[in-house]
Amino acid sequence: MRHGAAHGWIEVVAGVMFSGKSEELIRRIRRALIAGRRVQLFKSHLDDRYGGQFQISSHDGRQVDAEPVSNSVQLAEKVDADTQVVAIDEAQFLDDGICEVVDALADAGMRVIVAGTDMDFRGEPFGPMGLLLARAERIDKLSAICVVCGDPATKNQRLIDGKPAPAEGPTIQVGGAESYEARCRRCHEVPKRDRAQGELGLGAGEPGA
Ligand code: ADP
Ligand code: ZN
Repeated sequence: MRHGAAHGWIEVVAGVMFSGKSEELIRRIRRALIAGRRVQLFKSHLDDRYGGQFQISSHDGRQVDAEPVSNSVQLAEKVDADTQVVAIDEAQFLDDGICEVVDALADAGMRVIVAGTDMDFRGEPFGPMGLLLARAERIDKLSAICVVCGDPATKNQRLIDGKPAPAEGPTIQVGGAESYEARCRRCHEVPKRDRAQGELGLGAGEPGA
């Protein structure tokens, strides 16, 4: 890690799936490359969207490859001492230790850009994302488009065989048959939550009615 006068910070790009977090991360990395910064990009090994081929290039031909990591310790080990910008995609899949790691990197003068889905399919904080949002100097929360009604979407809808998945399922399903949609609060369905609302005496009318 680099010490000295450099000024580091943490920025988080959060939001629902399909909200353009990866696009925004790529945009920021491209601009960092244009600025001549030394950049490293990491992604969780649980995410295979990139198929091991993920590269970001600048117009002057410089290139950044995404390095897969399985936990925060591994990520910390892979950061080179002379790196100036550390970008992390799909941070929701990492352990809570990532908070200390990104804090240390920022303290050492690095700009740390973290992208991740901040809510799981139930609408609860996903992995370390809530803690990362609390530590960040800058937060951008992106929305997608609700596939049901066309309003801005803020929630991840998990579907199994095309039907809303119950809240009891695991937060991370690897290789499962489920699929995901971006939905707004009104169109988001988590079967157990409806029951919980019933127990709380909610959902039987307008709030305060
Ligand atoms: P994220 O990293 O947040 O999952 P990506 O950057 O991978 O998002 O993808 C964003 C792109 O996904 C959008 O630019 C758009 O082309 C596409 N997309 C697919 N479904 C939707 C949706 N429901 N709402 C918005 N964009 C969508
Ligand atoms: Zn909707």
